[in-house]
Amino acid sequence: MSDILKVAMPKGRIYKKASKLFREAGLDIPVDVDDTRKLVIEVPEAGMEFIMAKPVDVPTYVEYGVADIGIVGKDVLLEENRDVYELLNLGIAQCRMSVIGLPDWAPGIQQRVATKYPRIASQYFREQGQQVEVIKLNGSIELAPLIGLADRIVDLVETGQTLRENGLVEMTGILDITSRLIANRVSYRMKNARIQALCDALQQVIPASNEVSAGIFRG
Ligand code: AMP
Repeated sequence: MSDILKVAMPKGRIYKKASKLFREAGLDIPVDVDDTRKLVIEVPEAGMEFIMAKPVDVPTYVEYGVADIGIVGKDVLLEENRDVYELLNLGIAQCRMSVIGLPDWAPGIQQRVATKYPRIASQYFREQGQQVEVIKLNGSIELAPLIGLADRIVDLVETGQTLRENGLVEMTGILDITSRLIANRVSYRMKNARIQALCDALQQVIPASNEVSAGIFRG
């Protein structure tokens, strides 16, 4: 195995937070890396290669070992249920997964719930003893109750602005979400010193208000 650590980085809103944390941990990541449209980026200064992935695909790249490690939200980790090690709670991209609906929502005979997270939502409603039909959507979930596709949705809430602007209300919080550092099982053994050194450096700079998961457990 090469000494280069292949890192599946989430493209989009979480990338900036992740690269900021890496820099705070002492990694030398040139600023031009942030603006490039390249999908595979060599970062020799940090001994890394970034694989710029759609966040939902990060656990897949890590499970198959084309990335040694990756950064991914707990939401995606639970939904995808991939065979990877979860090493650290990075404490960034904090939000919550909630049940959301119109203010006048009342239980009907048929209940439909739209979400990007059918596995998490189905498990939640099963545990609550509520029989619902879960409909998978890939984006703009807030549309569903507005146009009558579903009674409620399960989605992420950060500031609550999206809900307010669409006349929706948060009914129940299901999960607190933050980004996690994950690792491929073989890479974790073969590149243990590198990965452990990175974890140690990150642990020094993880936002203190967040609980840090030490050790390894399945995501
Ligand atoms: P907000 O309006 O700040 O409550 O943000 C809610 C919108 O941003 C929803 O469409 C969410 O799906 C999305 N969102 C919020 N936080 C995150 C996150 N940490 N990761 C991915 N999407 C998020």
